[in-house]
Amino acid sequence: MERPLTDEARRVLASARALLGEWQEEGVERPARRPAEPPAAAAVAPPAPIPGALFEPPPAGGARPTLEEVRARLGDCRRCRLCEGRTQIVFGDGDPHAQILFVGEGPGEQEDLQGIPFCGRAGELLTSMIEKGLGIPRSSVYICNVVKCRPPNNRTPLPDEVAACRPFLDGQIEAVAPRVIVALGKPAASLLLGRDVAITKVRGTWHEYRGIPVMPTFHPAFVLRQYTPENRRLVWEDLKAALARAREGR
Ligand code: URA
Repeated sequence: MERPLTDEARRVLASARALLGEWQEEGVERPARRPAEPPAAAAVAPPAPIPGALFEPPPAGGARPTLEEVRARLGDCRRCRLCEGRTQIVFGDGDPHAQILFVGEGPGEQEDLQGIPFCGRAGELLTSMIEKGLGIPRSSVYICNVVKCRPPNNRTPLPDEVAACRPFLDGQIEAVAPRVIVALGKPAASLLLGRDVAITKVRGTWHEYRGIPVMPTFHPAFVLRQYTPENRRLVWEDLKAALARAREGR
C-alpha cells in the first residue's frame, strides 16, 4: 500500500530536484556521490518582498542599524524549520565597515560547528581567493550567507527559509553599507537580483541591490567540484572587477 509522503520527504525530494537542476545548469554530467560542501546553487525562487521588512533602506540621511542591532533582532531565531537542526546561528564575519560584502548560501557542517561563515573547505578557497588573489586580508571584507542556519544535509535553502532570513541579510547590508556586494552562487544571486537566475549567465555582469553594485560569481564549493583553470580564471576576473569597483572614487 502506498503511503503518502511526509512533509520532510517532500522537502528532501524538492531539494534533490533542485540540486539536479543546478548540476545540469552548471554542466556537471554526473553528480559526485557525496559532495563535501553544500551545493553551490539550485533553483530558489526569489521570495516576494516582505511587507514591513525589518530593515527597510533608511530614508536619505536616516540612521542605519548596526550589526549588533541586527544580530539582537535575530535573537535565538525560530522563524523557520532550520533552527531545529542547527548547532548555532552563523551570523557573519569580518569588518563591520567593509567595502566588499560577500553573500554565500548557508552554513555547512564546519560553519555550524564553529559559528563562522566560510570556515570549511569552500571557505579556505574563498579566503585564499581574497587574500592571495585580491591581496587583501579576509578580515577587511564582510562575509555572510542568505540563511544563517545550516540546512539539513547541506541541502539548498527553501524559498520560505530564504524569505524568513532575508530581513537579516538586508539588515547586514544596511549596517555594513558596502560599496560592492559579491553574490556567491545561484541562491545568493537569485535573491539579490530578484529573479531566478542561471549563475553561468549572470556571473561577471553588474547588477544592483538597494542601490549597491552586485557582482555574481561562482560559489567556491562549485569551483572546488569543477576545479578547472577556466572556472578559477572566471572567478578571479569577477573578484578583480569587484575590488576595482569598490576602490573607484575613493
Ligand atoms: N557555503 C556557504 O554558502 N556558506 C558558508 O558559510 C559555507 C559554505
